[in-house]
Amino acid sequence: MPSPRYHREIPARYRLEASRCLNCGRVAYPPRRVCPACRGRNWETLRLTPKGRVLTSTVIHVPPEEFLNEAPYAMAVVETPEGGRLLTQVVDCDPGTVRPGMEVDLEFRLVRKEGRSGILCYGHKGVPPEH
Ligand SMILES: [Zn+2]
Repeated sequence: MPSPRYHREIPARYRLEASRCLNCGRVAYPPRRVCPACRGRNWETLRLTPKGRVLTSTVIHVPPEEFLNEAPYAMAVVETPEGGRLLTQVVDCDPGTVRPGMEVDLEFRLVRKEGRSGILCYGHKGVPPEH
């Protein structure tokens, strides 16, 4: 089991930490210093719900080298109930069935293993809720 220390050290994005502009309410993920909507600089931190709705999606047939054996796969912009947006892979379904409006859960998964170094990279992936 990962220790509490491990949990403190993983990057904020792994915890889906976003920020909400105190001036206009815009949610930025990952957090930003200056609000893209109103140029405000005062934020509150919030954690995004690990689920959302697909806004746009595309099927990748010719992926970067490290994802070669996963193609074809779907990449989607998913919006959480808070308004945070993530670009994420959608897995555990036929990539051709990923459509705008589709609900997905955001699960913390292994994303890739760095070739020679063997470093494991984790991130969130969209998964249809029935899985
Ligand atoms: Zn703002």
